[in-house]
Amino acid sequence: MDGEPLRVIPLGGLGEVGKNMTVFELAGERIVVDAGLAFPRDEHLGVDLILPDFGYLHDRHVRAVVLTHAHEDHVGGLPYLLREVRVQEVWATRLTLGLVKSKLDEHGLLRAAELREIEPERGPLDLGPFRLEFVRMSHSVPDAVGISLEAGGWRVFHTGDWKLDHTPIDGLRTEVGRLAELGNRGIDLLLGDSTNAERPGFTQSERVVGEAFRQLIPTRRGRVLISSFASNIHRMQQAIDVAVTVGRKVAVVGRSMRKNLNIARNLGYVEVADDVIVRPVELDDIPPEQQLILCTGSQGEPLSALTRIAYNDHPAVRVERGDTVIISARPVPGNELRVHDAINRLTRRPKAVMPIHGEFRMLAAHARLAQDVGVPASSIVIAENGDVVELSRDGVRVVDRVDSGVTFVDGLGVGDVSDVALRDRRHLSEDGVLIVVATMSNGSVAAPELVARGFAESDELLSEMRAEAQGIVRDLLAQDIREIKLLQEHIHDGIGQLVYDRTRRRPMILPVVVEV
Ligand SMILES: [Zn+2]
Repeated sequence: MDGEPLRVIPLGGLGEVGKNMTVFELAGERIVVDAGLAFPRDEHLGVDLILPDFGYLHDRHVRAVVLTHAHEDHVGGLPYLLREVRVQEVWATRLTLGLVKSKLDEHGLLRAAELREIEPERGPLDLGPFRLEFVRMSHSVPDAVGISLEAGGWRVFHTGDWKLDHTPIDGLRTEVGRLAELGNRGIDLLLGDSTNAERPGFTQSERVVGEAFRQLIPTRRGRVLISSFASNIHRMQQAIDVAVTVGRKVAVVGRSMRKNLNIARNLGYVEVADDVIVRPVELDDIPPEQQLILCTGSQGEPLSALTRIAYNDHPAVRVERGDTVIISARPVPGNELRVHDAINRLTRRPKAVMPIHGEFRMLAAHARLAQDVGVPASSIVIAENGDVVELSRDGVRVVDRVDSGVTFVDGLGVGDVSDVALRDRRHLSEDGVLIVVATMSNGSVAAPELVARGFAESDELLSEMRAEAQGIVRDLLAQDIREIKLLQEHIHDGIGQLVYDRTRRRPMILPVVVEV
């Protein structure tokens, strides 16, 4: 099959941060590297998760999905992918596989594909026409790998997320020697992580985070809350270590973080004595200065639980004056990636470079770095999601495009919402729209006005909704919660639930809070 064109099709992760996913295709066989999700931003009202559009893979056989590491933006879309697309095998390193298994189990998908463990030290893995080799990379989660892929006589290297951390927590360094060896064999196309490519200088080691914890935590009197991504296993370990030395008990808040910690403990990636961990409900009996709380949101996003806690809107955890909140959400803290040197070492011989993982300005910054080390501009591919990049005797170029939109998941299901506009239209045509206008003045709230369109409602339900909306705002104001966005979110959720309970319908709800 030598000389047959190899196609590289990014379905996510280009021109954005998150939902990383790349398809490799040769002679009708396919491998997918990563299946990530993105977390919604403010404008995605009512959306819980964002996935790549898997449409291109419908009715196409996928030999294997290969995962580089356990971060949600690389594995979080897998259950949804397996529901839509026939995948023969899923390959991941031990910890990644452990975390993914529990995720699939929750979705009832353990049997949807064969789950296989990557053992980088065991040499090449042949999957159909693809020969894969794995290089250990240090990253903020243990057990991350980069992937060398050979097919049809072409060699591609996909870095995954990585850095050159010479003092990683798990003792595994990026295997620079292996990278150099691959570089010597010759790489036709390098798919390189671009996150932080704009920032020059060294990546700070994950230990730096631990150092910050060690300096900060012992000086604090009240509770210490650390908010982080649920997959940030190294950070949990470091926070727990410091907690132990200063005599604090650790409570883990957030379902996905608790689950990940258990899996990591069972597999030996985190060490912690049983008596150190307490349940969130037990916090009431422990003085604040002996508490350390690790938290995330339900999907592992770092800020949502914290927002709720900060507004005293969390059932188990509160914060008071004198408590300390540490937001350790950025994947890499401090000042960042040693891209220059990394690219220098690794890509001395790549024939072409395609920056991945990042917004376009990051991809462009990465491209400039590649040019600086001698990769000709004509061999740098800045592609978009959905571009079909082909390696052939004519070089590397974009030859086609496939569908590559986004899919929103909003708790009701997937796929019935292929984009927000569509969903809005569906709501409007089927369930109507309900506008709730609440006016606040001097800390009190008048009975909200309701405007309903295409939504046949009884007067009884309307007045019930009015009372509910007023009650919601009143309760929040009583707790000193005045953030308009938060008030609107609560109205949206509360009224949505009420309408659904009474009518089994989901009109589009537009809460508007006006302060006069
Ligand atoms: Zn990552």
